[in-house]
Amino acid sequence: MIIILSSETSEQQIDNLTQHIESLGLTPHLSVGTFRTIIGVIGDESKIDADQLSAYPGVSSVVPILPPYKLASLDAHPQASVVEVGGVKIGGGHLCMISGPCSIESAEGLDAIASAVVQSGANILRGGAYKPRTSPYAFQGMGIDGLKILREVGNQYTVPVVTEVTDPRNVEVVSEYADMLQIGARNMQNFVLLTEVGKCGKPVLLKRGMSATITDLLMSAEYVLAAGNPNVILCERGIKSFESATRNLYDVAAVAAIKTLTHLPIIVDPSHATGRPDIIPACAYAGLAAGADGVHIEVHDHPEKAFSDGPQALSPSEFAATFKKLEEIARVFGGTF
Ligand code: PEP
Ligand code: MN
Repeated sequence: MIIILSSETSEQQIDNLTQHIESLGLTPHLSVGTFRTIIGVIGDESKIDADQLSAYPGVSSVVPILPPYKLASLDAHPQASVVEVGGVKIGGGHLCMISGPCSIESAEGLDAIASAVVQSGANILRGGAYKPRTSPYAFQGMGIDGLKILREVGNQYTVPVVTEVTDPRNVEVVSEYADMLQIGARNMQNFVLLTEVGKCGKPVLLKRGMSATITDLLMSAEYVLAAGNPNVILCERGIKSFESATRNLYDVAAVAAIKTLTHLPIIVDPSHATGRPDIIPACAYAGLAAGADGVHIEVHDHPEKAFSDGPQALSPSEFAATFKKLEEIARVFGGTF
């Protein structure tokens, strides 16, 4: 950590600071320049609070050297993490294709969609049982009945299943039925929920909040890791912007940027990022090219009848064609589904 002092800092203020640093078991290194003095702090940065230091009289700014997400950072773990979801490996060249409807609507409906997407190459089935909806009057999901359907259909097609958990009180029941727990964009900073899924041990698919920075996303991952669960997969699903041509702004650059910061796998969700079936395939390809460890695409066999997110669903045949190309792109970039 580097402390930059303001130009009028007094000797007494510098003494106060160095004493504080030494009292924490750290070593201050004073460097006196013509206009400014800086103090380099040597030792375990986690022992010192940058905000507290900034509040000391005479301090102009504090520059941490290490990122605040210690467990998620590449410094902590220089190799790519491989997360296993019901036997499917994700990360380090292993790619996942998560597909299925936005919501679980019926056993027959999910069966038909699952049959199609698994046949086309999806290796993880998705479906929401607890839906975070903007309107309280919109379909809220089938709850536990939906979880049971998802588990049965997953077993039938021998694919792991992922579904969203929106409430800390449901973490136990969702982890009973699902192979991976999704934390949705709206709950990315629900810290109680993050700690709860951190304690449950099941892999967690952590979606980026729609107003979250990359640091915010990694700090949320840190909550899950700090609670003892190393199995976190990040997901870029678009952020808010002034652009109205797409549902959200697909931040594909974040994928490449995140790869330089963390060992955790990251996948892309061009369905929620764009909301547009006509451009979802192109955005999925771009995600893999940017270094994503997998893709998440919503599929429905009757989008016009879907209970949620129908307008952004790919048809099973569109999905099949998209996945074929994704496999080709994966070959170019050295990954395998
Ligand atoms: C979803 O996966 O259906 C969903 C609600 O996603 P997000 O949290 O990214 O909006
Ligand atoms: Mn959806």
